[in-house]
Amino acid sequence: MASIRELHQQLITKKRSAVEIAQESLDCIQALEPKLHSFLCVTADRALEQAQQVDAQIAAGEEIGWLAGIPTGIKDNLCTQGIPTTCGSKILQNFVPPYESTVTGRLAAAGAVMVGKTNLDEFAMGSSTENSAYQLTANPWDLERVPGGSSGGSAAAVAGGECPIALGSDTGGSIRQPAALCGVVGMKPTYGLVSRYGLVAYASSLDQIGPFGRSVEDVAIVLGAIAGHDPKDSTSLKVAVPDYVSLLSPELRPKFRIGVIKETFGEGLDAVVSEAVRAAIAQYEAMGAEIVEISCPKFRYGLPTYYIIAPSEASANLARYDGVKYGFRAENPPDLISMYTQTRAQGFGAEVKRRIMIGTYTLSAGYYDAYYLKAQKVRTLIKQDFEQAFAQVDVLVCPTTPTPAFKAGEKTNDPLSMYLSDLMTIPVNLAGLPGLSLPCGFDQQGLPIGLQIIGNVLREDLVLQAAYAYEQATEWHQRAPVL
Ligand code: GLN
Repeated sequence: MASIRELHQQLITKKRSAVEIAQESLDCIQALEPKLHSFLCVTADRALEQAQQVDAQIAAGEEIGWLAGIPTGIKDNLCTQGIPTTCGSKILQNFVPPYESTVTGRLAAAGAVMVGKTNLDEFAMGSSTENSAYQLTANPWDLERVPGGSSGGSAAAVAGGECPIALGSDTGGSIRQPAALCGVVGMKPTYGLVSRYGLVAYASSLDQIGPFGRSVEDVAIVLGAIAGHDPKDSTSLKVAVPDYVSLLSPELRPKFRIGVIKETFGEGLDAVVSEAVRAAIAQYEAMGAEIVEISCPKFRYGLPTYYIIAPSEASANLARYDGVKYGFRAENPPDLISMYTQTRAQGFGAEVKRRIMIGTYTLSAGYYDAYYLKAQKVRTLIKQDFEQAFAQVDVLVCPTTPTPAFKAGEKTNDPLSMYLSDLMTIPVNLAGLPGLSLPCGFDQQGLPIGLQIIGNVLREDLVLQAAYAYEQATEWHQRAPVL
């Protein structure tokens, strides 16, 4: 589908109505879903109703914002009032939230048209969307490959052209990694910039909601609409949200300093990814940026640290699914305790159970200090690495993922190799920083490769500027998969 700017232009010049645009998205979804399976539910009625409201505003001569009439996919771990929110889990299969998440509420208020809820790894735990209890989502560039995860449905929907923008959540890479594997732009904001109210919690100290789009400008527009203080989220920052779009320029600011994280070019990185990212760095240099090699020696402890902290928080957050309050309940249990245990045994998938067990262990008496507390200390050290880096540079760059998209089934029996997909994205969540992935090349088989740009706390502006300037100077974002 066209960009937000193009669609907005069509609307205000009355070339097309919002209903026609919504219908184009819904038709595309209908045509592509048998191949992609990006959506868990399509909300056609609600979409057309929202589009009609936008058309009425236009007919009445009212001014409309950027997002009015723009079809949007929403990851199915964001609560949407009156519309099922499954989290990709059987345990929430009948859950219809009685309230709306802040981000979806803000998008709706801006006139965005929700076309459906997108597939994800169960409770956002995974890197391929294969952990969904419902369906496998395909990568639009090669249907035998995974779209990445956990926001694989949102990434595939945008890459496939089913909708121009979508929301995802990113706890350890779940926006940036699928964005890289699907050849789109995806951004995880600074922790606290976007309200988590109504996001089903996975690991609360790491979770952030963010946008997917086909271009940096689209992502900047969506971020501007969802960011900003929310009294309903106690971790929400009280900061003014800049007009990100007006700050975008095809030219880099004078003396723009880009740090290259040395440690990310080590073992396990595909040669083709390394080459593409090196070429992107050369491109920045040609555009006048100053390139500085930066060492983040603690970066490599990110993965083990994350796989203690995230499961610990998850084990606490997921304790609430006991068959009493939400969704699924095991049938005919003999007593109350069996009702709890059978509900959880039948309702959760293998990866979720694995994490609950790890997290329960790392939080238990006697192990808490050795694992959880130690991990928190290492988290601080990782943060300090970044603080030192940002004393020297404006943004950091590195590959988003070690490899392009892998085949479905390739890593399902080897959780550790699956966990490695997030090697480069996880430290950013541990430090609470903003990170973005955008296309920077393709491998020999035509699979997209992602460049990750990392910013200091609340420096989304610099990240977006660096991304936009690169995007405008290159042509990668103009390629689209043939479906
Ligand atoms: N793949 C990582 C995990 O499984 C990250 C997921 C995410 O960011 N939600 O935990």
